[in-house]
Amino acid sequence: MRILAILALCSVAARALPDARFDDSAKAPAPVASPKAPASAISEDDGRVWAEFETPGKAERNALVDAGISLEEIKPGRAAGFATPKALARAAAKGLKPAVKVSLRARFGKLDFPDKDSIYHNYKELEADLRGLAARAPDVASVLSIGKSTQGKDILAIRLNKGARGTQASAKPGIVFLGTHHAREHLSTEVPLLIAKHLVDNRAQPEIARLLETRDVYFVPMVNPDGVEYDIEGGRYHMHRKNMAKNADGSTGVDLNRNYSWGWGGGGASPHPDDDTYRGPSAFSEPESRAVRDFVEARPNLKVMLSYHTFSELILYPWGGSDEPIPDAKARAAFIAMAGEMSKMTGYTPQQSSDLYIATGDTCDWAWGAKGIYAFTFELTPKSMWDGGFYPGAGVVQRVLQANIRPALYLIDLADDPQRSIKGPSAFAAAAR
Ligand SMILES: [Zn+2]
Repeated sequence: MRILAILALCSVAARALPDARFDDSAKAPAPVASPKAPASAISEDDGRVWAEFETPGKAERNALVDAGISLEEIKPGRAAGFATPKALARAAAKGLKPAVKVSLRARFGKLDFPDKDSIYHNYKELEADLRGLAARAPDVASVLSIGKSTQGKDILAIRLNKGARGTQASAKPGIVFLGTHHAREHLSTEVPLLIAKHLVDNRAQPEIARLLETRDVYFVPMVNPDGVEYDIEGGRYHMHRKNMAKNADGSTGVDLNRNYSWGWGGGGASPHPDDDTYRGPSAFSEPESRAVRDFVEARPNLKVMLSYHTFSELILYPWGGSDEPIPDAKARAAFIAMAGEMSKMTGYTPQQSSDLYIATGDTCDWAWGAKGIYAFTFELTPKSMWDGGFYPGAGVVQRVLQANIRPALYLIDLADDPQRSIKGPSAFAAAAR
């Protein structure tokens, strides 16, 4: 979603990179802009383009997102993302014209989900795995629905708690891991699902046994199941970010990570329905964001949240909607300490979310601002669009999982008192070194 890559990439090099970079299979590279799209290509050209801009600083990045461009990759002096023709016109009116502009069909036409990425879970496979997991560990795991999607699918959660099942209340300190607010970020489904599996499979290990004895742990691996199913429909990727709401102008989808109420309607969240970052007609207009809200509000024991996204290898903490630091200095110190420890475990870069650009209405600003939950966004692997972007292939899954197990254990442990993080590394942090 939002990216800050370390390496600068000049425009000439960017243009020269072949599309095959996105495909980790052994297929021969396709021409970058073949006049005939291959059978597996994105066939419907919805008019969006991949656009790269010269951006001397954050003011230009803010102007681009305010024009309705979904910035996905930020590098020194340069930012890139998805734009509709109208958003490009709004940016041009501010004097911002893209240095590079490519149609999505030309740019991403070779992507092909089922052949090379079948390790990733679609909705039915996710449901089967969650239910299978709960069936083989009934002592600790149960599956529940936190609500329905726009198209009526259950938004499924798996709960790990040795004392309470399903929707039973628990007084134990709670934590929730969320995945795939954004449809095309499939790796963000895999990581929470596989961490849940790891905990279940290793529940006899003393440190994990202690956590499952003393904590209330939830995983919601696919917040946006309709969008995920659409993104892989027909055996090809659709580069879809939003949910599947039907908008008044005929376009599809609301950006669920701009639809939360904290700061809703402010900068970096488009009022234009056809933009990738469309914030929706009102805060919590969407059943998926309402499901997360209602789930959280029904569980006052939740103290920590981790919302997985892709990509760029970042650890983000509030605010996203303001350049200001959060007002509670002690809490900010805890956020920074926790992000720093988890950075050591993952190699991801820790920073305040708004360091990228201002974006309002996101999950973590709401979780912290409205509920006092220590909420982080992880932007998972890879680092850049040129390393696979939203579709890094099956080969990265295990490596990304391994990098993310320790941070998950660390956060679960800290759910009783996140401010313990200020006092120094916990056993979980130290064990990672
Ligand atoms: Zn995202």
